[in-house]
Amino acid sequence: MTASSTELTALSLREAGAGLAARALSSRELGDAALARIGETDARVGAFLEVTAERARAAAAEADQRAARGERRSELDGVPVAVKDLFSTKGVPTTAGSRILEGWRPPFDAAVVERLEQSGAVIVGKLNMDEFAMGSSNENSAYKACRNPYDLSRTPGGSSGGSAASVAARQVHGALGTDTGGSIRLPASFCGIVGLKPTYGRVSRYGVVAFASSLDQVGPLARSVEDVALLLSRIAGHDPRDMTSSTRPVEDYLAGLEGGAQGLRVGVPREWFQGGVDAGVERSIRAALAVYEKLGAKLVEISLPHTKYGIAAYYLIAPAEASSNLARYDGVRFGLRAEAKGLKEMYAETRERGLGAEPKRRIMLGTYALSAGYYDAYYLRAQKVRTLVRRDFDAAFEKCDVVAGPVAPTVAFHLGARTQDPLQMYLADVFTITCNLAALPGLSVPCGLHAETGMPVGLQLVGRSFDEATLLRAARALEREVGALPPPALGTP
Ligand code: GLN
Repeated sequence: MTASSTELTALSLREAGAGLAARALSSRELGDAALARIGETDARVGAFLEVTAERARAAAAEADQRAARGERRSELDGVPVAVKDLFSTKGVPTTAGSRILEGWRPPFDAAVVERLEQSGAVIVGKLNMDEFAMGSSNENSAYKACRNPYDLSRTPGGSSGGSAASVAARQVHGALGTDTGGSIRLPASFCGIVGLKPTYGRVSRYGVVAFASSLDQVGPLARSVEDVALLLSRIAGHDPRDMTSSTRPVEDYLAGLEGGAQGLRVGVPREWFQGGVDAGVERSIRAALAVYEKLGAKLVEISLPHTKYGIAAYYLIAPAEASSNLARYDGVRFGLRAEAKGLKEMYAETRERGLGAEPKRRIMLGTYALSAGYYDAYYLRAQKVRTLVRRDFDAAFEKCDVVAGPVAPTVAFHLGARTQDPLQMYLADVFTITCNLAALPGLSVPCGLHAETGMPVGLQLVGRSFDEATLLRAARALEREVGALPPPALGTP
């Protein structure tokens, strides 16, 4: 008997890989099932900006030929996945969610795309996102809305909204996103899946459209901790083409995964529980902390006193770096070029037409913060705050092994609820941003459904530098107790 297409798409990445290894499944079947599922559901979800069906079929055929020869490159060999449209893909449109890159086909692949393909993974397309990864709801996408599979009237979170929505909607078995201030953890939390932002430098940024270079990091999203560990194992590692890439050897993220939480010291930051968090979210988080205690972990109260300056510091540093990174989009080298009578007019008209309101806002903020006379007062000061944030975590990790708390103050909010007020939108990042400022690894793991709304709640865990293994082990311990969330209904709004 052959499995139905929805049975195939519901398999975890590990299960799909195991089916391929046992030759019980073919990559062609899995690829066709993923494409069919995308065809059936994506008009409602809006996760994909580009579906690369032909390439996917060719890659699946190659995977099946390898399998016929008894060759297997990795657990991902033959498994359908997708990537945020921030990753350069050779010959395939790469927009970063912006009109200014419309029509750009990169002449090369991002390092992580290469690594996925070298692992045999079948990339089925490019995922929706906030323009240049600026946003917390995916509503800044210049192309289309992306919706939360658990409630189509709500946001999937951002900026990697398409990545999270696609995985939650069982369109693909795993996806890659980027996280500059929370963009993997927030959508993972809103969509009830697992998302990991690795330590800065753990995964190559080569070929990733740059937003804020000292904060950007690539990471995996999937429906289980194990699947996230599998993906991280394939994308992590040194790359000489990224100057900030670490030469540290990559750990075995699977070896200790089932090690449990006995003896683990879980730090609970006082400042993350001082009001401002929705009561139902807080209840889920506290229930997750109680699970850790039950499993033999020790809860330790810690303090991260500079949390309250995180948003202010981030919204100077990130726009400052963005204003510099986005200067390259001038109509000459990439994508859109507006017709105008002179060169300067062409630059201005291209940027006027090609960039949306949020990137423009950030370019103005960033240019201002970096300008003569203001640099010391804003950018330099924000960098000093960054050091203080890092020291908070250093002190905390003397007392604990992981820091635990909410990913966000609320569950996924309704589409349109915050689009008129950028500051309200920025506040969604209050708990995720400090992890990026401190360059530490952080993840979101589902800890249950919110009682009032039925929406998923994610627990955030932040770890020591390059200690992704402990984070994953801790997340797995919780996942084993909480169990899988019910699959989303893709209900009409
Ligand atoms: N929401 C944050 C911002 O708008 C973070 C985005 C991200 O992590 N890419 O900048």
